[in-house]
Amino acid sequence: MSNFSFIAETDWRCACCNKNLQASKVNVEYMGSVFNVELMVCPDCGFVLIPEDLALGKMLQVEQLLEDK
Ligand SMILES: [Zn+2]
Repeated sequence: MSNFSFIAETDWRCACCNKNLQASKVNVEYMGSVFNVELMVCPDCGFVLIPEDLALGKMLQVEQLLEDK
């Protein structure tokens, strides 16, 4: 299992609860592998903020890591 941190300084709040998002470790399944990823999560409802660079850029790095093995 690999560890990735996507914690960023953010003023994001949950749209439902209006709570500040907190850093939390989440297991993400991607390309058939499970990654332990730190993401910003709503403490009340569990909403997970997926940053744009995770969706677009850094997952490419993850793919490259997988291909290297
Ligand atoms: Zn919430």
